[in-house]
Amino acid sequence: MPSFVAPTRDARFVINEVLRIDDYAELPGFAGASADIVDAVIEEAGKFASEVLAPLNASGDQEGCTRQQDGSVATPAGFKEAHGQFRESGWGTLSAPEEFGGQGMPHVLGFAVEEFMSAANMAFAMYPGLTGGAVNALLAKGSTDQQQTYLPKMVANEWLGTMNLTEPQCGTDLGLIRTKAEPQADGSFAITGTKIFISAGEHDLTDNIIHLVLARTPDAPEGTKGISLFVVPKFLLDADGNPGERNAVMCGAIEHKMGIHANATCVMNYDGATGWLVGEENKGLAAMFIMMNAARLGVGIQGLAQAEAAYQNGVSYAQERRQGRALTGPEDPNEKADTLMVHPDVRRMLMDSRAFTEGMRALALWAGLLVDLSHKAATEEDRTAADDLLGLLTPVIKGYGTDLGYKVATDMQQVWGGHGYIVENGMEQFVRDARIAMIYEGANGVQAMDLVGRKLAMNGGRAIQALFAEVGKECAAAKADERLADLAGRVEKANGELQAATMWLMQNGLSNPNNAGAGAYDYMHLTGIVALGLMWLRMAGTAVAALDGGSSDKAFYEAKLVTARHFGERFTPEAGALRRRMEAGCEAIMALPDEAFVRG
Ligand SMILES: Cc1cc2nc3c(=O)[nH]c(=O)nc-3n(C[C@H](O)[C@H](O)[C@H](O)COP(=O)(O)OP(=O)(O)OC[C@H]3O[C@@H](n4cnc5c(N)ncnc54)[C@H](O)[C@@H]3O)c2cc1C
Repeated sequence: MPSFVAPTRDARFVINEVLRIDDYAELPGFAGASADIVDAVIEEAGKFASEVLAPLNASGDQEGCTRQQDGSVATPAGFKEAHGQFRESGWGTLSAPEEFGGQGMPHVLGFAVEEFMSAANMAFAMYPGLTGGAVNALLAKGSTDQQQTYLPKMVANEWLGTMNLTEPQCGTDLGLIRTKAEPQADGSFAITGTKIFISAGEHDLTDNIIHLVLARTPDAPEGTKGISLFVVPKFLLDADGNPGERNAVMCGAIEHKMGIHANATCVMNYDGATGWLVGEENKGLAAMFIMMNAARLGVGIQGLAQAEAAYQNGVSYAQERRQGRALTGPEDPNEKADTLMVHPDVRRMLMDSRAFTEGMRALALWAGLLVDLSHKAATEEDRTAADDLLGLLTPVIKGYGTDLGYKVATDMQQVWGGHGYIVENGMEQFVRDARIAMIYEGANGVQAMDLVGRKLAMNGGRAIQALFAEVGKECAAAKADERLADLAGRVEKANGELQAATMWLMQNGLSNPNNAGAGAYDYMHLTGIVALGLMWLRMAGTAVAALDGGSSDKAFYEAKLVTARHFGERFTPEAGALRRRMEAGCEAIMALPDEAFVRG
């Protein structure tokens, strides 16, 4: 059975040493996040993830969720108790606002904790994870009354939240939503319609569930301009604010799906359920985007998390399993065979996994810091700069992070050979669980379109220019140190490819939008490589400084430098190929008539 140990040393390295969280002590919420507190929180969260959540991962997957006759849903054995412990330990409140009972700690710390929970048990972590997004939407758009009513309970994880967008005819294209919201005399709305694929739509972890639902009012304009957001509790609240009468929203079925079996993915039937408008009528999509942006970063972290868990189990197997001999002659002559660790091809997969997980962790945690800075930085200019980069990087973290997370999960399954394909060994669960992250919260192709179609052009390309400048500055500084010069040269070259690709898009995407659509995916991966390159430069620089300073943790920093070198040598060369492929344009992709795709 797989095991999981939270990568606490690496998270502390990124937060304390690379991002230097201490430098922000003046900002609200950061004073309570000194290096020693960060260390304590990280270690405690790691312990909870490894000891409480990881042991329920395989059993939860096997048992799945069960819908009872009355429409209620039972989560797998142990989940309710684990959620009780999660709630009591305050993990859900970590970076929630103090005003509503949260601890107000920086998101950068919250993101690290989220990774551990998701790596230990992705299906479990989704229950509280979605609630965080719902809290953000209510914070931004809810009325004072709605905030007072729901947020303290949701922040405390006494009630969990959901996000209801998808309908049978409407996935990516939310303009097709049909669910209706009829105004009632008391100011509420009667919500009627069917939502599908709703994560954590029904469960037994809490005594109320707060659904955020997209629906149309009677005279709403067609398309996305006519969508409004509603808050619909499973149980209506009594005069004291406690769950009372059952609302007319029920789980009609649980979807049978490839992975995350322990998370109840529900068909939700709204049959005149009572709901209340959140924010302005017909402005629901903007409100939901607040939730989706947070959730997209969370899904990117899921990709990283599954990769980390799979990597750890790939390593432990490669160190035990004996097959064949090293190409250079036996390493363990007293044994009949050497371990898998001697084979360069196995090590290639392990090193790729290290380079991705460590680079992605740094990128995700930097994004967490950018979330904090976009709200709390001292000047308007700094807040805007953080917000620009965060907006640009969100689809990259989601799209590139989950694509590579899935790749690592399958590579680690590969390290296990045939045994990786056998259910009881647990490696295939990582693959199944990681797969959904590429699809939901906006499929990765849609993330690529968000990057190319929206984020690049915003404010005259200010965000991508800022990324180019940041990478350029980091490369120039690193080149001065011979230990970093090779990596810096490679990242600089990849940054040049990204600049050329951006220019090509500007010239060719405008004249024919299909050129932008056909190249968007490659562009997203190219941006991912450059963003990870920036992270590796920062991490390698930090490692060099620590070694020069005589750190007692020499092995950790030396391993960082080797992994940085692997990233430079093995990831950055792809940048040129991605650009060239993108520049092939859309002609062959769009040439065949639809009927020519059909065989026969
Ligand atoms: C396990 C699970 C949990 C989920 N949880 C939730 C949840 O909690 N709440 C919720 O509301 N939904 C949820 N979803 C729904 C999920 O977000 C959607 O499935 C997803 O957004 C894609 O929509 P779709 O399935 O209708 O695919 P479609 O929109 O039909 O897309 C099919 C393919 O076409 C591509 N495509 C579509 N439009 C475009 C375009 N304009 N440009 C380029 N490519 C395009 C997509 O990238 C995709 O590859 C969940 C789904 C699953 C499977």
